[in-house]
Amino acid sequence: MSTPRTVRAARGTALSAKGWPQEAALRMFHNNLDPEVAEHPEELVVYGGTGKAARDWRSFDRITASLRDLEGDETLLVQSGRPVGIMRTHEWAPRVLIANSNLVGDWANWPEFRRLEARGLTMYGQMTAGSWIYIGTQGILQGTYETFAAVAAKRFGGTLAGTITLTAGLGGMGGAQPLAVTMNDGVAVVVECDGSRIDRRIEHRYLDVRADGLDHALDLAVKARDERRPLSIGVLGNAAEVFPELLRRGAPVDVVTDQTSAHDPLAYLPAGVSVEDWKDLARAEPEEFTLRARESMAAHVEAMVGFLDAGAEVFDYGNSIRDEAREGGFTRAFDFPGFVPAYIRPLFCEGRGPFRWAALSGDPADIARTDRAVLDLFPENEHLARWIRLAGERVAFQGLPARICWLGQGERAAAGLRFNELVASGEISAPLAIGRDHLDTGSVASPYRETEGMRDGSDAIADWPLLNALVNTSSGASWVSVHHGGGVGMGRSLHAGQVSVADGTDLAAAKLERVLTNDPATGVIRHVDAGYPEAERVAEAHGVRVPMKEG
Ligand code: NAD
Repeated sequence: MSTPRTVRAARGTALSAKGWPQEAALRMFHNNLDPEVAEHPEELVVYGGTGKAARDWRSFDRITASLRDLEGDETLLVQSGRPVGIMRTHEWAPRVLIANSNLVGDWANWPEFRRLEARGLTMYGQMTAGSWIYIGTQGILQGTYETFAAVAAKRFGGTLAGTITLTAGLGGMGGAQPLAVTMNDGVAVVVECDGSRIDRRIEHRYLDVRADGLDHALDLAVKARDERRPLSIGVLGNAAEVFPELLRRGAPVDVVTDQTSAHDPLAYLPAGVSVEDWKDLARAEPEEFTLRARESMAAHVEAMVGFLDAGAEVFDYGNSIRDEAREGGFTRAFDFPGFVPAYIRPLFCEGRGPFRWAALSGDPADIARTDRAVLDLFPENEHLARWIRLAGERVAFQGLPARICWLGQGERAAAGLRFNELVASGEISAPLAIGRDHLDTGSVASPYRETEGMRDGSDAIADWPLLNALVNTSSGASWVSVHHGGGVGMGRSLHAGQVSVADGTDLAAAKLERVLTNDPATGVIRHVDAGYPEAERVAEAHGVRVPMKEG
């Protein structure tokens, strides 16, 4: 049966595979396509424009069957969403190795990718879509919350109360923006061209209200701002039209960003095109559509720069919209920074990044138990404690219950080992899958995002994500992936992911200790190598060895 169908991960402790690592990969693969989790599951699209979990439904079936059949000393190879081989390895080797969307340098562009995709030879893996560790909008929520907290600290005395943030895009990742702003006590106005996405975010409690139009949105926003009351407002419209209109009206906006799927011009709706015509037009005339999308992005970014000139805090939120706007003819697109150099790099220097885990039991009580474990492990970290409490209260799970929190060098290994103990003692009812986003400290080369403006100019050096994947493979991760493109699009990034399974065994503990030490350590050494003294201090404190600093 190679036709679309409804997929949901199994729950509970009964295995349909030959071991927990294989079962974990199977459940997380299926969980990515749960209708509660995926944006367009019928097309196997999880999030981020066209980010898919498997190439087609036949590949889905063959991956499922292969994972069920896989021995504890075998490894399944997945090439852009298609299972291509099963090999005898050993029990410390990953059970799955994944490579998605990779193209040779000179061929790494959208037209060539689409040509190959149309021939059924590849798929777009985004970051956690094709590497089976997407956990719904929560996956980006803490990063977005941290980013807005950094904006608040930098410009508004530590809170967004009494401010209005304007942004666009309420998709799988962008949908985190309204909740992240209200968690920082601010008001968010979010422009989205597809009404069904606005309703989905309200249903999942990420967005508070839908405005009847622009006037209504502004009235609601100003009133809430004046009362210093957090509120998020979705408004239907095209950002390429609404942003310039708000600028023209002199709307009182304090912070501006964007999270439409700008990384892929076919996933950005140009002004004047209806949502209904979008897919057909993009498919029929991809080049013409790209030109129109870039022209619209130029207008969209020109308005963002207008708000910058008017004194707002403006940043690119990791979707490459500046480069697309530049391609569309707007020369000042890079006047505002990306969010990593503006707010996140110091965290990367500490090996800190989006650590996450999912309860394979399906039982929310297991996540509540891990939340308590994190609070017990790091009692001195008030910021983390506030996040864990807020997430416990305000985050609605999508699919398998999961949690994310940014942890650094030393902390990730401590958490992983504690979780494994909780599984071993039966305090948690089934194993946990522990992974992370590819947007992490040492796992990505992306000159418009994670590695923008590196101190030594090494932004485009892509050896680091490859070393990261090799180290995780050598350290005992359960599945490891190497992708191209991700959040910023073809030709603009290489990145790697890992997921490890805490099944309560001694072997899992030995693997977790190594992976969760070495994985963030690649980020620490990457930043030491680029000349960040903060990273050198972290390396020293945690015994991360850097030969060029020895002797
Ligand atoms: P998505 O495709 O699920 O959602 C994008 C949304 O933008 C859709 O709902 C779409 O209708 C809307 N949209 C498109 N064009 C529009 C326009 N002109 N006006 C208004 N709305 C428009 O994608 P996503 O998963 O939400 O990701 C959004 C972007 O963020 C992608 O480019 C992704 O690669 C990037 N991203 C950033 C980070 C980060 O950490 N900052 C992480 C992951 C992804």
